[in-house]
Amino acid sequence: MTLSFKFGTVGSPTGTPKKPGGSVGAIEFSKSIGLDTLELGWVQSVRVTEATCTLIKSASEEHGVALSVHAPYFINLNANDDEWPKSRKRLMDAAHYGCLAGATDIIFHPGSYFLNDPIEVLKIAIPRLQGCVDELKKNGDHVTIRPETMGKSAMLGSFEDAVAMSKAMDMVQPCLDFAHLHARPGDGTMNTYDEWSRLLEIYGKELGSKALKRLHIHLSGIEYGPKGEKNHLPLAEADLNMKALFKALNEFGCAGRIMCESPIMEEDALNMKKAWMKASGEKEKK
Ligand SMILES: [Zn+2]
Repeated sequence: MTLSFKFGTVGSPTGTPKKPGGSVGAIEFSKSIGLDTLELGWVQSVRVTEATCTLIKSASEEHGVALSVHAPYFINLNANDDEWPKSRKRLMDAAHYGCLAGATDIIFHPGSYFLNDPIEVLKIAIPRLQGCVDELKKNGDHVTIRPETMGKSAMLGSFEDAVAMSKAMDMVQPCLDFAHLHARPGDGTMNTYDEWSRLLEIYGKELGSKALKRLHIHLSGIEYGPKGEKNHLPLAEADLNMKALFKALNEFGCAGRIMCESPIMEEDALNMKKAWMKASGEKEKK
């Protein structure tokens, strides 16, 4: 039996050796310590050649490490008309080169409300994202584009926003950052079995039960205040109730990828994997 979830880090694990280094080294190192997925952190810009993408793809296939890409931070579906083309290009480049590198999922931060009503912002964001998806389809770039749930209440990227974008078009599904979902209300809620169950129930109802089998999750400990996220923390130093979360994920028959965003990256990724095996009773195929 293989586990329902693959585990990995967002960005190269800290222990990736200098040689071969880079994404290829990160793939090899991840595999060697028992991780089987990796989210390439293209968070500042996309500056990778087609030749490098080919190398990354073959390393991923050789080692059986499934790849995602975290697109640059500087993307905003609610950017003004002057800024939007630059934002759009960053997302399209991440998707195109990600696809060449063998990544199946492209994660991005959807942007800011700029103090506007979320409903009005979605009226701008959804058609823009639809335009991106249409072009990717035309180009044959078959990837799932994933708007991430964001940890601050001023950011586009509530659970409802991510679901609305996903419902509106093909090829789009949320990236569920459970640390962000816990931090966003700012009052310590979204941290119980019942709250997570309710969220997964809505997810399945809105996006279909099949979507629960291909979740893309970000996880870490998190520090927060009234406005939401402050910074990521190691699991052991935070109040996130991972046990309750994993119980709910198991109860709903969920599967997919769980990517660790804790400062102690691979160490906590392996802690998550252990905790999942305990919560689900699943064992690794040797
Ligand atoms: Zn992110």
